Amino acid sequence: MTVSLLGAADIRRLAADLDVTPTKKLGQNFVVDANTVRKIVQAARVQPSERVVEIGPGLGSLTLAILETGASVTAVEIDHRLAARLPQTALERGVPEGALTVVDADALRVTSLPGEPTVLVANLPYNVSVPVLLHFLETFPYLQRGVVMVQAEVAERLAAQPGSKIYGAPSVKAAWYGPWKLSGTVSRQVFWPVPNVDSLLVGFHRDPEPRGSEQERRRTFEIVDAAFNQRRKMLRQALSGVFGSSAQASTVLESAGVAPTARGEDLTVDDYHRIALVAPVS
Ligand code: SAM
Repeated sequence: MTVSLLGAADIRRLAADLDVTPTKKLGQNFVVDANTVRKIVQAARVQPSERVVEIGPGLGSLTLAILETGASVTAVEIDHRLAARLPQTALERGVPEGALTVVDADALRVTSLPGEPTVLVANLPYNVSVPVLLHFLETFPYLQRGVVMVQAEVAERLAAQPGSKIYGAPSVKAAWYGPWKLSGTVSRQVFWPVPNVDSLLVGFHRDPEPRGSEQERRRTFEIVDAAFNQRRKMLRQALSGVFGSSAQASTVLESAGVAPTARGEDLTVDDYHRIALVAPVS
């Protein structure tokens, strides 16, 4: 099987055919460089036997690079015109019938994925990248690992460790599912249109066993949100609303082995989980 990838001229021709002008609202910055899409697929170590889910396939640049490995793809695209055209592009470019399934839907709302993919590979729409990642990890337990291209600040935040300035609620929530690691840089020039932000690749591996139950996860995330809503405050104060008063918050924190004078950015996901286990109900 030989799949031919899309170049800059192909992308512009396809967009013109479909009368598509990339919109900021949908974060439409299409990759026009074959080396870049291959680099993303290599970083994800996609194997021919695997099924990959791609969020926002757009005109198909990255989709074809994933399919080139022999893997199957489930692609979720919100823009109807792009979703409708993708199967034809795949066939024209040498992809065998049946290797690609397109889901015409908002990725933030999908609740099942055909083929139960185990790998996520995407150049994510920047305005929804964190919510869409958390939605996928929460909703699809069969997703084992992934590599995504996101705005540089978002990638750094997802991979951040406690104590750093950029460590925030997304860092803790992402870590609930497993470790995250930066895995490559991408030039702005590979996109059409050229975005006004830098991009980075970031990868994750889901832990073999879930860290806790769904109820524990919800409670942990509630505490994380409260802690980072007032990140400059000490936890006994920032969590006073969640636990009724700052005295009660201090008691809970001490029982969990966390100093009441610590700040949200000092705590690991394990610390937050322990706090949730000490005080499980709101
Ligand atoms: N993967 C293509 C590429 O690399 O050239 C396109 C990437 S572009 C940054 C983001 C894509 O996500 C666009 O095709 C856009 O229409 C789509 N998109 C935006 N919001 C979405 C959502 N909520 N659900 C699914 N797709 C979405």
